Amino acid sequence: MGRLEGKVALVTGSGKGKGGVMGMGEAIIRRFAAEGAKVAVTDVNTEAAEALAKEIGDNAIAITLDVTNEAHWKPAMDKVLDSFGKLSCVVNNAGISEPANIAEETFAHWQKVQRINSDGVFLGCHYGVNTIKLSGEGGTIINISSTLGMKAASIHAAYCASKAAVRHLTKSVALYCGEQKLNIRSNSIHPGAIHTPMYESFLAMGPSREAAMQAFEAGHPLGRVGKPEEIASAALFLASDEASFITGAELTVDGGLAL
Ligand code: NAD
Repeated sequence: MGRLEGKVALVTGSGKGKGGVMGMGEAIIRRFAAEGAKVAVTDVNTEAAEALAKEIGDNAIAITLDVTNEAHWKPAMDKVLDSFGKLSCVVNNAGISEPANIAEETFAHWQKVQRINSDGVFLGCHYGVNTIKLSGEGGTIINISSTLGMKAASIHAAYCASKAAVRHLTKSVALYCGEQKLNIRSNSIHPGAIHTPMYESFLAMGPSREAAMQAFEAGHPLGRVGKPEEIASAALFLASDEASFITGAELTVDGGLAL
C-alpha cells in the first residue's frame, strides 16, 4: 500500500527535465505516482508535460498550464475532476530565478518574476482550495518557496520578495482552511540549492562551472547541493496522512543553508 494511495495530486511546472536533469516538479510527480497517487503533470511546456505523463502511464494525465494565466486554471481543475473524480493535493512548484540586484532590476522584470512565482502560487492556492474542498475529504497545498524567502540575498531582489510572499500566503491559506474546518493543510518547502535545470542555468552564468559548483557546495553546511528527489521526499511527507497535524509550517530542505 503506497503512502498516497487514493489521493490525486496536481503539480505545476512538472514537465520532464532537460538533458537528463530532473526538475523538482518531475521528481515530485515520479515519487507521488510511485506511492500510489494519481497525478496531473502540468507545465507551460506542453511537450515536457506530455512526455512525463506518458512515462508514468495510466495514473497520469498531462495538462498545459501556464500558472500566470487565470484562464488555464479552471479547465485544468475540470480535467483533473473528469479524469480522477477529485483533487487531494496541489503542489505549487513552477518558478523562475533570474538574478538582478535592486539597482539593475527593471520594473518589467520584477513584474515577470512576481507573475510566475507569486501570482501563480496565489492562483494555485485559490483554485486548489476551491477544488479540493468539493470532495469533502480534505487535502493539502504545498508551496515551493526557497531559503531566499527566509533569508535575503542582494542579487535576487525580485526572487527573494516573491518567495517571501509565498511563505506568508501559505500561512494565510492554512489559517483560512482551519477556520473553515476544510481539513486542508497548507505548508511551504524551502529548498537550498538543488541540482535541477534551474541550478544548471546558475552554473552556466559564471566564468567556470567547476568554481560555481564548489561555491554552492561550500555554502551548504552539509557540504553539497541537494537532489530533486530530496525535495520530493519532503513533499511526499507533507502530502501524506503522516503529516496530518502539520499546517502553516515552513520546512527547510537545504543542507543547513538557512541557518
Ligand atoms: P526548473 O527551472 O528546473 O523547473 C521549473 C519548471 O517550471 C519548468 O518545467 C518550467 O517549464 C516550468 N515553468 C516555468 N514557468 C512556468 C509557468 N509560467 N507556468 C507553468 N510552468 C512554468 O526549476 P526547479 O529548480 O525544479 O525549481 C522548482 C521550484 O523550486 C521553483 O519554484 C524554484 O524557484 C524553487 N527553488 C529552486 C531551487 C534550486 O536550486 N533549483 C532552490 C530554491 C527554490
